[in-house]
Amino acid sequence: MPATHEVTNQVPPLVGLDVTAADPALAAGLAAAGLGVDDALHALGAAAGSAEIIEAARQANTHAPVLRTHDRTGRRIDEVEFHPAWHTLMDRAVTAGLQAWPWDPDAGDQSHLRRAAGFYVWTQVEAGHLCPISMSYAAVPVLRHAPDLAAAFEPALRARNYEFGLRAPATKAGLLAGMSMTEKQGGSDVRLGTTRAVPDGAVDGGYRLTGHKWFTSAPMNDLFLTLAQAPEGLTCFLLPRVLPGGELNAIRLQRLKDKLGNRSNASAEIEYDNAFGHLVGEPGRGVATIIQMVTMTRLDCVLGSAGGLRAALSEATHHAARRVAFGRELIDQPVMTAVLADLAVESWAATLTALRLAQAVDAQIDDPAEAALLRIALPVAKFWVCKRAVPTIAEALECLGGNGYVEESVMPRLLRESPLNGLWEGSGNVTALDALRAMRRSPDSVSALLGELDPATGTDACYDAALRSLKEMLPTAGADVPEATARPFASLAARLFAASRLLRLAPPEVAALYCATRLGAIGDRVLGELPAGYPARDIVAATTPEGQPIG
Ligand SMILES: Cc1cc2nc3c(=O)[nH]c(=O)nc-3n(C[C@H](O)[C@H](O)[C@H](O)COP(=O)(O)OP(=O)(O)OC[C@H]3O[C@@H](n4cnc5c(N)ncnc54)[C@H](O)[C@@H]3O)c2cc1C
Repeated sequence: MPATHEVTNQVPPLVGLDVTAADPALAAGLAAAGLGVDDALHALGAAAGSAEIIEAARQANTHAPVLRTHDRTGRRIDEVEFHPAWHTLMDRAVTAGLQAWPWDPDAGDQSHLRRAAGFYVWTQVEAGHLCPISMSYAAVPVLRHAPDLAAAFEPALRARNYEFGLRAPATKAGLLAGMSMTEKQGGSDVRLGTTRAVPDGAVDGGYRLTGHKWFTSAPMNDLFLTLAQAPEGLTCFLLPRVLPGGELNAIRLQRLKDKLGNRSNASAEIEYDNAFGHLVGEPGRGVATIIQMVTMTRLDCVLGSAGGLRAALSEATHHAARRVAFGRELIDQPVMTAVLADLAVESWAATLTALRLAQAVDAQIDDPAEAALLRIALPVAKFWVCKRAVPTIAEALECLGGNGYVEESVMPRLLRESPLNGLWEGSGNVTALDALRAMRRSPDSVSALLGELDPATGTDACYDAALRSLKEMLPTAGADVPEATARPFASLAARLFAASRLLRLAPPEVAALYCATRLGAIGDRVLGELPAGYPARDIVAATTPEGQPIG
């Protein structure tokens, strides 16, 4: 017995949970596409909940990366040093095929959806290291605009080998890629970019780049897709960090950002000092070329936010099922039950939305309607799901009381990370405007969206009424859509998209509560403000394994 007091009513850490098995929304989203939860996903879920990996995530965020610009003799090395825990996480992610593996012709059917499920599970461990993973995944379709480069680099991008370090790409069995677009004077409006590219007379398709990039995440990766002003206009290039002979390309890491969010990953300011780049796609068509990378990383933003939401919900319910206040477990205090039910409903919605988008990535190869759906559903989902992560994770943190405010609880890390997905790869206004642009430029995206939403009518009055409102917002032929309607449109479209999935795939009480609170006539509300008559406790029980022993 300790000298002063015995510790009681403190909740043990959430360790030993199979993150995959505990998630009915994940299973429902996969089943909707005809997939089961396979052994690989269970193994990943078990690893994600293991003490070893949770500890690696903590260490990777405690020991931040360190920029080393020069070696002891004063020569530039432009390298970032990471704690071994970072490499553990990276290795697991790459060997699980969360990077470019789905692009492998032998990856099998629905490889993007299967990879999305893994990404969603694994992001619950630690979000920072999934940034380089995500960018490597997204780089492949862009690289294919330059078949020679794709032939040279794609196999190692797809390979499940993690090889850190400054070596020529051709000598590595595994490669990772990044993207470098944002400059000081503009991130959303990349047309403002001032980095210049001039043809390198000595190499066919080679250019020399001079300029800066204000944000380049994961600067330790091997290859970077970037935009620069060529004589023909803004153009896409691929820059290797190390040149074929082994010498460093002239990509200078100026400093690492001291940023909100995870502490594990590095984001750098860089300068190109006559750096060598390969042309990718047509000169002057840089935005059109790199846009596929943006699309794929946006998918990961939605998956990442859905994963963050799910992780926060698991922590909140785990705590509430074990902490007693005023005579009973928090989970059974009616006001807390309502909060948890509301978190559960948000998590269901985010998960099913994200998985449906990943399903469309696979299906679009054979089905133009799925490609059209992605053009509009992806920006609206990114707008909504990534924004919802912030208040939802904050509310989940509060479920743990003061313990939730302490780093050891993991909740501060989840909260700090939560605004990022909404911001990068198109912040809220920009993605909402992208949805309007999709409507204007490809009317088939509107038909594809309605093709998704219409079949869910007839069971919920709130849903039906909200869909009628959305249709009133659609442009009539030839008319322009006012930009000011971008946010209301994106918000309503995303909520309807989520509800249409819930009505088909979730327990009826989850769908009904979502429609009543996110589509009904209830005005501004905070989480946990539920209308009377919904079985909140059943919703919590059906969504989380709480009340049952873990491990
Ligand atoms: C942690 C982190 C990592 C990043 N990593 C990378 C990376 O690896 N590579 C990379 O290239 N970039 C990266 N970025 C940059 C990121 O993509 C940009 O910050 C983002 O695109 C916004 O650009 P900006 O910062 O220049 O803001 P701005 O473009 O100046 O936007 C500021 C605000 O204005 C709004 N806005 C912009 N245009 C309009 C409009 N037409 N109408 C209404 N509102 C508008 C935006 O929504 C935003 O809210 C990273 C950013 C962060 C925070």
